[in-house]
Amino acid sequence: MAQAQKITPRAQDFSEWYNDVIMQAELADYSPVRGCMVIRPNGYRIWELMQRALDDMIKASGHQNAYFPLFIPQSFLAKEAEHVEGFAKEVALVTHTRLKATGKTGAAAVTPDPESALEEPLVVRPTSETIIYAMFAKWIQSYRDLPLLLNQWCNVVRWERRTRLFLRTTEFLWQEGHTAHADEADAEREARTILGIYRSFSEDWLAMPVITGVKTESERFAGALRTYAIEALMQDRKALQAGTSHNLGQNFAKAFEVQYQTAAGDQEYVWNTSWGVTTRLIGGLIMTHSDDFGLICPPRLAPVQVVLVPIWKSDDERAKVLEVGERVRGDLQGAGLRVTLDARDSLKPGAKYFEWEARGVPLRLEIGPKDVAAGQAMSARRGGGKAPLPLAGIAAAATQILDEMQSGLLGTARERREAASIRGVTKSQFIEFMKDKGGFAYGGFCGDAACEAAIKEETAATVRVLPDPEFRSPEAPATCMWCGRPSIAEAVWAQAY
Ligand SMILES: [Zn+2]
Repeated sequence: MAQAQKITPRAQDFSEWYNDVIMQAELADYSPVRGCMVIRPNGYRIWELMQRALDDMIKASGHQNAYFPLFIPQSFLAKEAEHVEGFAKEVALVTHTRLKATGKTGAAAVTPDPESALEEPLVVRPTSETIIYAMFAKWIQSYRDLPLLLNQWCNVVRWERRTRLFLRTTEFLWQEGHTAHADEADAEREARTILGIYRSFSEDWLAMPVITGVKTESERFAGALRTYAIEALMQDRKALQAGTSHNLGQNFAKAFEVQYQTAAGDQEYVWNTSWGVTTRLIGGLIMTHSDDFGLICPPRLAPVQVVLVPIWKSDDERAKVLEVGERVRGDLQGAGLRVTLDARDSLKPGAKYFEWEARGVPLRLEIGPKDVAAGQAMSARRGGGKAPLPLAGIAAAATQILDEMQSGLLGTARERREAASIRGVTKSQFIEFMKDKGGFAYGGFCGDAACEAAIKEETAATVRVLPDPEFRSPEAPATCMWCGRPSIAEAVWAQAY
């Protein structure tokens, strides 16, 4: 068990465990720039698989990809008052375009050339509403140009003080959708459609169950009319905001003069939406499924879905098991599975098992001389369960196992979330719950931001969402669980990442 001990148990220190899982699975590493992250091939492959799946869904719903610049004129950010207030404290600025040699050595060898100071500094995009809507103003003239449905895959920079691999990094990767619509109803439909896509993506691909709903005023996006979110619960019973979709109203349209001529000939401002998910989802995937042996990756997003481990003692046995291994690999690849045959001489089978377990490979097939003689392979599921599989029809059997594992992970995560949820809380129950284990607490909410702030101050819990009908308790709460005034909606609170 020497290798497994490199991972701190979850029960001992969840945060250490999380970092250990990432390091052991070689998903990411710390960069020389504090707060930034290097995504290693194993982690980047998961992101590529996520991108491919979500990009297909975004395109299937009528959106096109485009690309806008990394740099935004500083003045653009200032055009929408709430937006600038929300992002001002975390933007990186480009002020010079050249360095100059000083004649000194070391770090002081170069300095920004004062003659290259930009007249107007450029902001490194923390999000792209401003530059995209400045372009929309050029492209949209008539109602015939609407809706305009764009998305871009890119990096953004938000200067964070406290960072964690994947969950909060100064630079991160994401997709940001930006759309323009003729009226409020169409923008609202769009924001909702995307929320539904995010939910399906999260549940069908990451096997990460989410609650959907609307954010309170204090938690909504800077400059938005309404923010919708998908919220997941991690194994340590802390919430993770996994994706957001904003109805921006006409705030940005007015700031950037995005107007169109209606069929009747009037000038109207468009309605915008924006929406995004980030590399944070990889953190969500890790914290939803993994265990003390390392990463557990849902099969649909696993870089390697099946690893074949041949077992031999003599050269004669080696030749036989490798021949069968190659054949099985061909069968599985032919069925569209991502497969590796681990024929390394340098490692014993047990060491290979540990390594692939830590990397989260869903299914291992062991092929030894006795298996070859019996016309089978021994299958071992990540997370438990061993059974012999006949070599005849092994691709179909492996595919079925992976499908079962995919839905099993979602079911387990959903059960865990429900076991970590309480409904109809009173104030004293709430305080106890948040002090003790935490989780999702459902209760009445007065809608007052001051009450919300008091709850946060005392318990560190925030309203994750005012949940959609599907997630609400059978009986609507009558009073705010904190202050006792009439409830405007049921809310879901949790301590969050
Ligand atoms: Zn209240």
